[in-house]
Amino acid sequence: MMDMPIPDAMVLDRRDRIIAGLLDLLPAEAVIHDPMETRAYECDALTAYRCAPLAAVLPATTQEVAAVLRLCHAEGVKVVPRGAGTSLAGGSLPTADSIILGVARMRAVLEVDYPNRFIRVQAGMTNLSVTGAVEEDGFFYAPDPSSQLACAIAGNIGMNSGGAHCLKYGVTTNNLLGVTIVLMDGTVVELGGAHMDAPGLDLLGVVCGSEGQLGVVTEATLRILPKPEGARPVLIGFESNEVAGECVSDIIKAGVLPVAIEFMDRPCIRATEAFAKAGYPDCEALLIIEVEGSAAEIDEQMGLISQIARKHDPVELRESRSADESARIWLGRKSAFGAMGQINDYMCLDGTIPVSSLPHVLRRIGEMSRDYGLEVANVFHAGDGNMHPLILFDANKPGDLERCEQLGADILTLCVEVGGCLTGEHGVGVEKRDLMTAQYDPADLEAQLRVKDAFDPKWLLNPAKVFPLDATASRRAA
Ligand SMILES: Cc1cc2nc3c(=O)[nH]c(=O)nc-3n(C[C@H](O)[C@H](O)[C@H](O)COP(=O)(O)OP(=O)(O)OC[C@H]3O[C@@H](n4cnc5c(N)ncnc54)[C@H](O)[C@@H]3O)c2cc1C
Repeated sequence: MMDMPIPDAMVLDRRDRIIAGLLDLLPAEAVIHDPMETRAYECDALTAYRCAPLAAVLPATTQEVAAVLRLCHAEGVKVVPRGAGTSLAGGSLPTADSIILGVARMRAVLEVDYPNRFIRVQAGMTNLSVTGAVEEDGFFYAPDPSSQLACAIAGNIGMNSGGAHCLKYGVTTNNLLGVTIVLMDGTVVELGGAHMDAPGLDLLGVVCGSEGQLGVVTEATLRILPKPEGARPVLIGFESNEVAGECVSDIIKAGVLPVAIEFMDRPCIRATEAFAKAGYPDCEALLIIEVEGSAAEIDEQMGLISQIARKHDPVELRESRSADESARIWLGRKSAFGAMGQINDYMCLDGTIPVSSLPHVLRRIGEMSRDYGLEVANVFHAGDGNMHPLILFDANKPGDLERCEQLGADILTLCVEVGGCLTGEHGVGVEKRDLMTAQYDPADLEAQLRVKDAFDPKWLLNPAKVFPLDATASRRAA
């Protein structure tokens, strides 16, 4: 089970003074300290772990964020930045001696520039509403996490989030041009801007994916793209996971670049059919592959994909012919997480592997699932090798969560062993904190800790995450 550091008793003793200080800086409704209300912030989407914070604050401007951080810096209070709290890795899980700093009230569009193709927003804006702000003019924001209705740009930057369409367009870091970030001592820093690259060290790249460890992002400049002329998915069913994995590998090898290649296996197909009734075939595994462009480009890419898929004897190959059919093909995939949640408790893993390892890794996951006696459903972004095994367990059954976590650790270690990575898009948080040693040796970890030292010398920002606790103990204590 996961350890968290013992709360700092001296901070807890000063609770009233700290809250009074926060109330001096922000309107009363932006400082949440009633224990009944702070419970709303006790967890994120990794609901197995909960702890109410000392207080939660909801500033509305960069200046208010800076004022809160200056106070917390002076008082030695830990701060956990929070977007919408949809992290699946426990990234925005608080500790009892910390303040949640939420950006949910910071939702304004600050600037839209079509000739230069960017939008500047406050970081609390939801992912989907960024596209919403520009779609009438024929533009969109490409990274599309399945949680996009709820999750904030702040959290997307925190986790370097991806989504189904990132195979073609890249993840957050590839679509982020600049940020305004407030350091723990209240210093406001601008990184990047409305242009492709900046001179000097790539600090924007360091901040993107830093999981609230380096500063609080308050504004972001994002690349927007003209909407493609058209897009069309094809659904392909297979007799086995491994054959579906081989088909993905062959498509990528052939140099075709679909906008998305999504994978679902039988447990997931069964659950989503019962939930969303999308009309998926009765098969072991299916792929949803989407291509986009002009009608001629779509036809050409569809032709190539179908040709490759047919070599793998698909049980069904269903090309969409209309907007309605496209929506039905995507319906089950988009409902997959909700559908799984209806039937079981589950833990959603997130690791990446080289695409050519898909057949091997899927086979090994099946074997491990049998060994542990826990069912694993797979639904993931197969085109970029970003796996999301969902381990099903019963939270009310003693020992099930622990077995689930151990199986999760084994699967993620397998991802590293085949040349992949512990996280593709959900981040490390508390979930994979102790597995970092499977990926990095002590010298690598030390280099990363020194980056945090430089940005946050007092180790007050989200300090119990990302790195194994014993690797950070002396820094946190100092
Ligand atoms: C059903 C479901 C589906 C999902 N699908 C996807 C998916 O397809 N792709 C994907 O990538 N993720 C997915 N996720 C995970 C999650 O939605 C993403 O990680 C998302 O980017 C988190 O955004 P958030 O605003 O909720 O951030 P939070 O959960 O609030 O925070 C996430 C991290 O960012 C940090 N952070 C938050 N705000 C700031 C800030 N202002 N400054 C600095 N750091 C900050 C936090 O400290 C934390 O470490 C899914 C989650 C769910 C529940």
